[in-house]
Amino acid sequence: MMQIGFILIIRMNSSSGQKGIYIMKVTDIKTFVVDCFRTNWVFVKVYTDAGITGVGEGTLEYKEKALIGAVEHIRSYLIGKDPTQIEKHYHDIYRDAYWRGGVVLMSALSAVETALWDILGKHLGVPVYQLLGGKVNEDCRIYVNGWFSGACEPKEFAEKARSVVDRGITAMKWDPFGKSYLQISNRDLDKAICCIAAVREAVGDKVDLLIEAHGRFDVPTAIKIAQEVAPFKPMFLEEPVPPNNLEALKAVREKSPVAISAGERLYTRYDYNELFHLRAADYIQPDVSHAGGIMELKKIAAIAEVNYIPFAPHNPSGPVANAATLQLAACCPNFCILEIMYSDVVYRSAVTDENLVYENGCIIIGDRPGLGIELNEAECLRHPYVEHNLRHYTGALTDIRPPENAFYFGERKKEDF
Ligand SMILES: [Mg+2]
Repeated sequence: MMQIGFILIIRMNSSSGQKGIYIMKVTDIKTFVVDCFRTNWVFVKVYTDAGITGVGEGTLEYKEKALIGAVEHIRSYLIGKDPTQIEKHYHDIYRDAYWRGGVVLMSALSAVETALWDILGKHLGVPVYQLLGGKVNEDCRIYVNGWFSGACEPKEFAEKARSVVDRGITAMKWDPFGKSYLQISNRDLDKAICCIAAVREAVGDKVDLLIEAHGRFDVPTAIKIAQEVAPFKPMFLEEPVPPNNLEALKAVREKSPVAISAGERLYTRYDYNELFHLRAADYIQPDVSHAGGIMELKKIAAIAEVNYIPFAPHNPSGPVANAATLQLAACCPNFCILEIMYSDVVYRSAVTDENLVYENGCIIIGDRPGLGIELNEAECLRHPYVEHNLRHYTGALTDIRPPENAFYFGERKKEDF
């Protein structure tokens, strides 16, 4: 109702001449840092003098304080400006940082850019995907991450995998490589392969397995691992080498018998330009919270499209990033599959009004205006920042969820809404 009222205000003012046209202005930007067990979600909320607000997410694991500072700089720029000039603001903020790119500045810009799309969608009364060309997908296939919480041995992974498939999930990802870094011992590699074999046997041939390497390995080790996992027919092997050298990634891809995915730690079209030029990956995984926001991902996906590269967005963070990524899943023709966390802290459902509809291994694309999600500020404040550290190289990677966690989609049926 607020959107309809605002449009009427503009029309009434328009009839009295150009000088009378009311232009919405940004009045404030706030960040909400919410402890979520493995890290802190960082939500950004943009306020306007029209009463319309927008939300974005820049969740930047373990670098939250830097992110808050970067958002403060953008706040100084954006106060008093028209929030609907999204492309202009993106361009100016990116250019005027002088020190371009990098995950801190880009995560801040991504979160704010996303919030501006939310405002524009609410202002016009349409979902964001409608502003980007409309739906090409009514739903989006998902693969789950975090489903293995607490598992250590292959049989524990197999048991959890079986229960995941019982919920209708058709694809799942995990990192079976313990605390290995650069190289892997034969013993640890055997354990990883046993784990993959146990999961494959538990779920059967029809479920897609995605193997995550978190940028751990050097080139020869990555190639060896790609060869070892090939008999289990993974959909892809993700980030087999660290993210800083795309020639090295290309060297792995050229000798890998399985598809290679990468890109969660690349930012902007400019980083992706090199990946596309080298053809260093088979699947791309830009993150809407880090690579530049909604329009930047739309553009990256479009360049991937002309190279016949599937778009499989990275999406392990919170509900607002998930809502933003769903907008892209709706409108990108080369969208392939969406990462999503299998369960979360029990208060995830209270932090926003997230309303995911799950059917047959897919999330149905919603039709609420904007991103279709609202932040509960009071609930956010109940879970203040807690310092967390990276677990990837400690062997504690599967400690990803608290004992009391909740499956936050799929429990309700579509007709319930
Ligand atoms: Mg990854």
